[in-house]
Amino acid sequence: MIRVSDITVYLKCPRMAYFMNKGNELVKDITLAYIEKIILKELALSYPDAPDNEDMVSFLDGELERLSDELRVIYRPELAGIDDELITDSISNVRAMLGNICPNLAGNRDFYAADPFNTGEVLQSGKFGLAGTPDKLVKINDEIIPSIIKTGNMPENGVWKSDRLQLTAYAILVEEMYGTIVERGFVEYARFGKVREVKLKRHERRKVLQVRDKIKKTMDGIMPEKPQDAPCEYCGFVDMCDVKSTLASRFF
Ligand code: SF4
Repeated sequence: MIRVSDITVYLKCPRMAYFMNKGNELVKDITLAYIEKIILKELALSYPDAPDNEDMVSFLDGELERLSDELRVIYRPELAGIDDELITDSISNVRAMLGNICPNLAGNRDFYAADPFNTGEVLQSGKFGLAGTPDKLVKINDEIIPSIIKTGNMPENGVWKSDRLQLTAYAILVEEMYGTIVERGFVEYARFGKVREVKLKRHERRKVLQVRDKIKKTMDGIMPEKPQDAPCEYCGFVDMCDVKSTLASRFF
């Protein structure tokens, strides 16, 4: 079964997906930036309640206080051995973002008013050999719509291509599991407090299935070429990846 997260990794670098499919774990450096991202992801789960508060900044500040106690419980393995100081500094950095986040939250009221639907459920399709868990499913009238939370940068308009494909993969799973048609999805850009809607396109459905097939090939042991724009600088596989000839791997 290919996971939607495998598709996301493959789009960053096909070789990364290859190494992970061979059972290697991608070890992440737990940096200030990484902790900020997990705090933003958790904080975004509280955004729907913020617009009901007269002082949104104080409300989210309170949520950050709660997270400073709970983060280690939620991310126990990742944060084991990490100094309290790093977590405190990350919380302070996210606190400094609240002034930019809060003015945008009221504009998302309709999205926040949508009913949450089977949150946390693993979606899978034997027919398509795909599985994954979207950050949220929301129900608007009779539509079941996948939504993902992103903690990095936001494009000037629309959403990043990788976000569209991730949503499309979840849409295919929702359609299979609930016998419905999914025409759109949402991306929540937590760092900015903005929610963007995505209309799903046919060529992206095709692309998801093509990427799924390419990942299956990497599972059969064919190491993909190293892409020119691979993000090697930030990759935990950089030592493992330093092979003289990719071609040779195809013969042995
Ligand atoms: S080191 Fe570069 S090419 Fe190799 S897996 Fe990582 S990102 Fe991909």
